[in-house]
Amino acid sequence: MTKKETKTIKEKSKKELTSEACKDKDCPVHGNLKLRGRTFKGFVVSKHDKRIAIEFERMIYIKKYERYARTKTKLHARLPRCMENSVAVGDLVRIKECRPLSKIIHFAFLEKINGSEEKK
Ligand SMILES: [Zn+2]
Repeated sequence: MTKKETKTIKEKSKKELTSEACKDKDCPVHGNLKLRGRTFKGFVVSKHDKRIAIEFERMIYIKKYERYARTKTKLHARLPRCMENSVAVGDLVRIKECRPLSKIIHFAFLEKINGSEEKK
């Protein structure tokens, strides 16, 4: 019974894979990782094994001085193996929140933003 069930599951997952096999469970496209929550865009500052770090500026109001200050926020995002080659350090990318995958990774790589949006 259990063998048959696993076989059917494997066949289903094979059909869903349109491109090369991606066995990554935590891949938002091929795995069963759900993306929900907040979306951020920023520049890739470092690239690691299955992980990228992005950084972006944001304005924070400081009550004492009644003024805004620029601060930088760094976020770590999951980068699945199938998209590893499409991202390089310095790219402007968009990431979306997912369930916590590790202590620091709560986001997953969503898409690379083209140069046209960079001017904005
Ligand atoms: Zn994948």
